[in-house]
Amino acid sequence: MALFKQVKKPVIKAAAPAGADISPLRPAYVSKPAPCGAGCPSGVSIRAWLTTIAQAEAYGRTKEEAYRIAWGIITERNPFPAVCGRVCPHPCEDGCNRREKDGAVAINALERFVGDFGLAQGLELKRLADERRSEEIAVIGAGPAGLSCAYQLARRGYAVTIFEAFSQPGGMLRYGIPKYRLPREVLDGEIARILKLGVTLKCNTAVGRDIPVEELRRNYKAVFVGIGAHRGLKLRVPGEDAANVFTGTEFLNRVNSGESVQVGRKVVVIGGGDTAIDSARVSRRLGAEVTILYRRSRSEMPAIAPEIEGALEEGVNIEYLAAPVEIIQKDGAVAGVRAIRMDLGAPDASGRPRPVPRAGSEFEIAADSVIAAISQEPETAGLEFGQNGGRWVPAEDGRVPGMDGVFTGGDAVELGLVTIAISQGRFAAEAIDAWIQGKPLEKLAAVKPIGPDRVKLDWYQPAARHERAHVAAAERATDTEIELGLSEDDALAETKRCMSCGMCLDCETCWMYCTNNCFVKLPKGEHYKVKLELCNGCKKCAEACPCGYIEMN
Ligand SMILES: Cc1cc2nc3c(=O)[nH]c(=O)nc-3n(C[C@H](O)[C@H](O)[C@H](O)COP(=O)(O)OP(=O)(O)OC[C@H]3O[C@@H](n4cnc5c(N)ncnc54)[C@H](O)[C@@H]3O)c2cc1C
Repeated sequence: MALFKQVKKPVIKAAAPAGADISPLRPAYVSKPAPCGAGCPSGVSIRAWLTTIAQAEAYGRTKEEAYRIAWGIITERNPFPAVCGRVCPHPCEDGCNRREKDGAVAINALERFVGDFGLAQGLELKRLADERRSEEIAVIGAGPAGLSCAYQLARRGYAVTIFEAFSQPGGMLRYGIPKYRLPREVLDGEIARILKLGVTLKCNTAVGRDIPVEELRRNYKAVFVGIGAHRGLKLRVPGEDAANVFTGTEFLNRVNSGESVQVGRKVVVIGGGDTAIDSARVSRRLGAEVTILYRRSRSEMPAIAPEIEGALEEGVNIEYLAAPVEIIQKDGAVAGVRAIRMDLGAPDASGRPRPVPRAGSEFEIAADSVIAAISQEPETAGLEFGQNGGRWVPAEDGRVPGMDGVFTGGDAVELGLVTIAISQGRFAAEAIDAWIQGKPLEKLAAVKPIGPDRVKLDWYQPAARHERAHVAAAERATDTEIELGLSEDDALAETKRCMSCGMCLDCETCWMYCTNNCFVKLPKGEHYKVKLELCNGCKKCAEACPCGYIEMN
C-alpha cells in the first residue's frame, strides 16, 4: 500500500521576476513534536521508529535492518518493548492525529512486533560508554522502575547492584500481571538483556529486613528506591478477618508464585482497577463464578478498558454502583458479602462523582472467597522513607528530599503504569549521573504536539487500522496468552498509516507545488534545500505540506 498518493510535478513556470513578491514570508522547515511521542510517558520517539519501518524501502534498507533500527530507537528509553507492547494502555495512541481520519495507528501492537523481533533475534542493549566508572550504585527493587534505572546507569558505565525482596525480578510484571497477559518468557528475555550489561541481581534480599538501608548508603555512592506498592488496602468492614479474604495483590502474588490457592466456587472481588479485573479473571481460571462489586459506574472504572471487556467475555459478572458493608462469616470462613447500592453524587477530590450509599438497598451475595482489590500502598516496614510524613516515598525531581544520594521513582511514589515506572527509573538514573558528575540535570519541558488542524488528513490514503486477533473466550481456560501479535504484513502496512506528523516524509509535495523551483532535492534523509532567493512568498508549499512541517516566517 502506498503511504500517499503519488502525483507528477506539473509543468514548471519561470521563476517569479524580481519585485513580484506575493508576500514577505518565506518557508522554513520546522520539525514539531508528534502527539504520539508527546503522549508516551517513557518519552520514546515513536514517530522516528514508525517511519523508519514505513520508509525502509525508500532508504534502501531491508525490513530487518529497519526493525533493528526501530528496536534501537525504542530501547534508548524503554528496555521493555515486548512487555509494553502487551500491557501498556498506550496513551500514545490517544493523541494520534490519524484517530480523526480512520483510527489511531496501532502503535502498541507495533511495539510488540518490534519487541518480539528483538527477542527472537537476540538483540542486545547498547552501552553509551565503553569505560567503566568507579562509582557503585544500589537499586532497591527489581520492578520496571528499578530495572530501568539499573539499565540506564549500567549503560553509562556504573556498577549496579539490585536488591530484590522476592525470589525473581520483575515486580508487578511477574507478581501482579497474570501470565495470560504477559508470558513469562517475554519478561525473562527482556530482563536478561539488562542483566547482561553487567548488572548484579541479589534476590531474596529485602532491604530493611535483610540489610539496612544505612548499609547501602554507606557502601554505595547512590541508592535508588523502587519498592513499588505491594501492600493491599483493607476494606475496613466487619467480618474482614474471615479465612479466605485476600487483598488483590496478595492473591495475585500467591497465584503468580505458583501456589495453589483454593478460592472455592464463588468469588466476590471488590474494586474497579487492574488489580480487581486481574483477580477476577484469574479466579475464573481457577474455576470460580466471579462477581465484581464496583462502587461507581462503568465509565468511572479505572481498569484498562479492553481488560474489562475481556473479563465480561469470560463470564465475570460486574455489579456497578455497589459496595460491601460486611463480610458474612460462617464458622470463621467467608459465607457471603452484604453489599449496598450506591448513587453517584457531586464530584469528590479525584474529580469523579462521589458514590453515596442508597438507604435501604442492602443485598447479599453468597461467596466462598472475597478479594479486596481496592488499592495498594508501599510496604515501608524497616525502611525510613515512610517516616517522611506518610506511607509513600516522597520525591522531588527523582530525589528523596533530605536524604543525600537517595533517589526514587515508580509506584513507591504514586501508583501508575509500567511506562511511568520505566520513565521515572530513567529520569532518576540521569539525575544520579548528573549528581555524581556535578552536571546540571537536563529536564525536558512539556511540549505542545502538532494537532490534527495542522495535518492534511485528506491527503493520506484511507487505510483501516490493523487489529490484533484474540483467542476466543471459550478457549481461554489457561495461562495461554490471549492477545496475538500482528502478522508481518499487517505490521508493515500499519506502520505506513503513520502520517509523520510534524516531520518531513519526503513526499515531494512542496517541491511539486513550487512554481518557482525553490526546492532542491537532497540525498535521502536530508530532505530538501530551499533557495529562498527564488521564493516569492506564495505559501503554496506550506499550505500543501501534508504533515505540517513547513512554516512561513
Ligand atoms: C495487578 C496489577 C496489574 C497491573 N496491570 C498493568 C497493566 O496492564 N499495564 C500497566 O502499565 N500497568 C499495570 N499495573 C501497574 C504496574 O504494574 C506498576 O505501575 C509498575 O509495576 C510499577 O513499577 P515499580 O518498579 O515502581 O514497582 P513494582 O513493579 O511493584 O516493583 C517493585 C519491586 O520492589 C521489590 N521490593 C519492595 N520492597 C523491597 C525491599 N524492601 N527490598 C527489596 N526489594 C523490595 C518488590 O518485591 C518488587 O519486585 C498493574 C499493577 C497491578 C498490581
